[in-house]
Amino acid sequence: MDFSLTAKQQELIGLAKEISEKEIAPRALDIDKSGVMDEDLLNILKQSGMTTLAVPAEYGGPGLDLLTVALVTEEIAKGCAGVATVCAANSLASFPVVVAGSEEQKKEYFDCLNKGGMACFALTEPGAGSDAGAVACKAKKVEGGYLLNGTKCFITNAPIADKITLFANTREFGGIRGLTVFMVDRNTPGVTIGKEEDKMGIRASATSEIILDDCFVPATALVGRNGMGFRIAMETLEKARPIVGAISVGIAQAALEHAIHYAHQRKQFGQKIASFEMVQEMIADMVMKTEAARALVYKACWLEMNNDKQASLYSSMSKCYASDVAMEVTTTAVQVMGGNGYSRENPNEKYMRDAKIMQIYEGTNQVQRLVIANAALY
Ligand SMILES: Cc1cc2nc3c(=O)[nH]c(=O)nc-3n(C[C@H](O)[C@H](O)[C@H](O)COP(=O)(O)OP(=O)(O)OC[C@H]3O[C@@H](n4cnc5c(N)ncnc54)[C@H](O)[C@@H]3O)c2cc1C
Repeated sequence: MDFSLTAKQQELIGLAKEISEKEIAPRALDIDKSGVMDEDLLNILKQSGMTTLAVPAEYGGPGLDLLTVALVTEEIAKGCAGVATVCAANSLASFPVVVAGSEEQKKEYFDCLNKGGMACFALTEPGAGSDAGAVACKAKKVEGGYLLNGTKCFITNAPIADKITLFANTREFGGIRGLTVFMVDRNTPGVTIGKEEDKMGIRASATSEIILDDCFVPATALVGRNGMGFRIAMETLEKARPIVGAISVGIAQAALEHAIHYAHQRKQFGQKIASFEMVQEMIADMVMKTEAARALVYKACWLEMNNDKQASLYSSMSKCYASDVAMEVTTTAVQVMGGNGYSRENPNEKYMRDAKIMQIYEGTNQVQRLVIANAALY
């Protein structure tokens, strides 16, 4: 067992940390208020390679392993979890192409991302959240390709995406065995980006509906095989969930550091609150839990990189545990700061709102616990 990081990993962490501290964190509260990430920051993310973290080396990307993607993501998330979500959504949308795309599809998709393109992963629908088998978006076979009809909702990056990794059902009566993945260009006739969500947190990331109205895609847009969509979704989420864990660790770490700084400044009863044992207990628990979550995220990445048969289980555990820790640590960080923690002048209340979504997207923590309990019991 070796916990040391390679020189390359340290270099990339340094780059991400610099961007996070100089470019992201100073704008995070303003972006949170307006709900709009400025074009300038998005360009910085693109130019520094933060939107192409999952692109393999043979297709012009950095060819990073999952642990390195997690390390970089944690640093970005310390600056702003919404910004980290924008970058992570590009990876999430890329994984189905990595897993099952043809040579031509990989070239086209990754070429687009390498040139600054953005992508989104469109699985969720108004009637299909935790139950992916309920996807009602239809893909009807027609001459030369498929006709797509339906509505996707809560899709991260949809308003800024050039490529949509879309899940539709090729079977008339739906069900998991008809779920199929398509690579859809945003400007294909019949694709409309719907209303943008006004969200509680991660407000730097744009989330919206995608409406498909008789949208024709050629047969070459089908990724993998007809009916392979559920398997591709599961393999994708197996890779992506530790990244949600990494964002969660970044949020928790940022909240912890802010609480520690405050505890050294704030005086009550003639002494710094850092000297009170009950405040120290809160800090100690935050430190331990954040570190335990980080270790679980690293292990999940390592198992995934080594194609271990427990990778899927650890992927679920890392996402579930780290996001629960992020929620707990950010709530405690507000408590350490008392009334000031509750004010929008300080970032801890933002961290708390940002942490909440980590327990919901990419499979709720109830769904992760189903996976974990099934693995433990049967
Ligand atoms: C900000 C944001 C960004 C998102 N980004 C994307 C994206 O980029 N792409 C995408 O495809 N989706 C995205 N989503 C959708 C997200 O993945 C879903 O919201 C999530 O999977 C839960 O689905 P749901 O909201 O329909 O909740 P539901 O499935 O309706 O769940 C409601 C409640 O019931 C519980 N529940 C459901 N089924 C079970 C069960 N079998 N056992 C126990 N409890 C259960 C859930 O845990 C939850 O507490 C995003 C959502 C948000 C809010």
